[in-house]
Formats: sequence, structure tokens, C-alpha cells
Amino acid sequence: MKNHTSFKIGGEASFVVLPESTDEIISAVNCAREYDYPVFVIGNGSNLLVDGKGLFGVVIKLGANFSGISVNGETIEAYSGAYLSKIANEAQKNSLGGFEFASGIPGTLGGAVKMNAGAYGGEMKDVVIKTVYLDKNLNLCEKTGGEQMFAYRTSAFCDDDIIIKSYIKLNRKNADEIRAEMLDLNARRKEKQPLNYPSAGSTFKRPEGYFAAKLIDDCGLRGKSIGGAHVSDKHCGFIVNYDNASFDDVINLIDFVKKTVYEKTGVMLCEEVKILKNKD
Ligand SMILES: Cc1cc2nc3c(=O)[nH]c(=O)nc-3n(C[C@H](O)[C@H](O)[C@H](O)COP(=O)(O)OP(=O)(O)OC[C@H]3O[C@@H](n4cnc5c(N)ncnc54)[C@H](O)[C@@H]3O)c2cc1C
Repeated sequence: MKNHTSFKIGGEASFVVLPESTDEIISAVNCAREYDYPVFVIGNGSNLLVDGKGLFGVVIKLGANFSGISVNGETIEAYSGAYLSKIANEAQKNSLGGFEFASGIPGTLGGAVKMNAGAYGGEMKDVVIKTVYLDKNLNLCEKTGGEQMFAYRTSAFCDDDIIIKSYIKLNRKNADEIRAEMLDLNARRKEKQPLNYPSAGSTFKRPEGYFAAKLIDDCGLRGKSIGGAHVSDKHCGFIVNYDNASFDDVINLIDFVKKTVYEKTGVMLCEEVKILKNKD
């Protein structure tokens, strides 16, 4: 799984399936259920920490094979495996503004909808008007507008739901202005984030009224390492895989940071990164 995650951590999965259609997703889930294998749905693996012991189960990866994008007026219809950067480029080419904020988030639309991904004042909540998904009984369902219950890094879609596609509503805007804004945001990202080391982005959610990175820095944890895992010197909100970190290194560092921050400030940090491991 280390080849399927931006953290570059994770042992072998029993199976990884790369479906090209909704029917293939349904077949994969039915087959997994017939043989009692758990199912894990992933996108680009950019918000995941996967167990070094691997995953007993079927990983359904919705990426490039499931990533059609079409533009109808001011609405973009995109399959869940479409990269956010590709959707942002398509929007720019069609003079559609409002998706610039997402252009540098290294995930797919499915992962972004599930997480209500956001940056620089924008979030999926602002632009995703409808999502089509398979529920746990593999019925094709849809949620529109507020039914998607987008909130800070969460949505109505539960772990058994498989997001198929979403509709993104944008506004007419000058294509050069859109390009300039995307370049600016991506330059700011490069300047602030440790993009030269593998990570899953911000390790912790923003606690209400605080910034996780500032709390961690104020507690003297900038640069703290356990094994190959490291609190980034550049951005304390990122734990990076500095030197062949194991799953346990990262988990131990997460726990150490949470304990220290809680003891010193009374604030309990919560993970934003999703941890995938076998049920005990
Ligand atoms: C360098 C870096 C910078 C980042 N910057 C940001 C940022 O600015 N803002 C931000 O919000 N995030 C950021 N992230 C985190 C991450 O990119 C986002 O959370 C992204 O939306 C995850 O998408 P993904 O396709 O990689 O999902 P994954 O990591 O593969 O999965 C994330 C979750 O979504 C679920 N999921 C994925 N696809 C589907 C699907 N089709 N159906 C149902 N469930 C699905 C998975 O089961 C998992 O629970 C950053 C990460 C990195 C490495």
C-alpha cells in the first residue's frame, strides 16, 4: 500500500482493484463479500496512513481509471477518481471560476467530497451541488445541496458509501485571472508546506479557536522525531515520513504530540488523517 499513499507507508493488501465502471465496483464488492473480505475504498491515498502489516481485504482504488470529466454550461460533472488538479484545469480552460482553491490539493474528487477538503477559504461545500454514490446495499443513490451535510473535514457520506460522481457548480470568470490565482495559491503552498517529504498533509484537524500547527510549535515539538517520523520543521501541522518511517513511528509520534499538547494546553488534537488497519 505504500505505493498507493502519499505517506509512502503501508504493507501489502490482499487485493487492489482498479475499477473502470460502476458495474465493476459493484462486482468487486459482491465478490469481496462472498469471500468475507472487508472492503476499503480509496482515492489518491493522500489523506491515509495504512498499517505496515498490510490490509486483509479488498482495496478499491478509484483513480485515473474512473475519472471522466464533462462540462455542461457552468456545471462540471466529474467521476470520483478525477484528480482535483485536473478538474481545476478543466474549469480554467472553460473560464469557470470557484475551484481554484482545490487545484493544489493532491487528492481525487471522491476523497475530497468525503473529507469536505478545503484550502485558502474555499471548501467542497461551496461548489458540490450533487453527489451520486452507492450505499451499503449497493443501491445507486444521490444527495443534493445540504443533504451532503458538509462540515469541517466531514460529510454525510459514511465509510460504507462509495462515491461515484459529483456535480460542481462554478461561475463565469476570466481564464487568465483563474490561472493567475491558481499559480499564486500553489506558490504559497510550496513556500509553506514540506512538499519534498512524503506526508498525508495536515495530520490534525484545526481545533476550534486554535491552529494545530501553532499549538504544536508552542509546545516545543517542531522537529520532534520518533524513528523516521518527524514533525516538519517547515510546517508543524505536518508529520512527515522523513526517513523510511514505519506505521508505528507515525502512530507513536501522533500520540506523543497529542499527549504533550493536551498536558501543556488542555487542547485535545484529533487526527485529520484517516488510519486504515485491520479490525482486531
Ligand atoms: C501535501 C499535501 C497537502 C494537502 N493539502 C490539503 C489541503 O489543503 N486541504 C485539504 O482538505 N486536504 C489536504 N490534503 C489531504 C488530502 O489531499 C485531501 O483530504 C484529499 O481530499 C484526499 O483525497 P484522496 O483522493 O487522496 O483520498 P484518500 O486519501 O484516498 O481517502 C480519504 C478518505 O476518503 C475516502 N474515499 C476516497 N475516495 C472515495 C470514494 N470514491 N468514495 C468513498 N470514499 C472515498 C477514503 O476511504 C478515506 O476515508 C493534503 C495532503 C497532502 C499530502
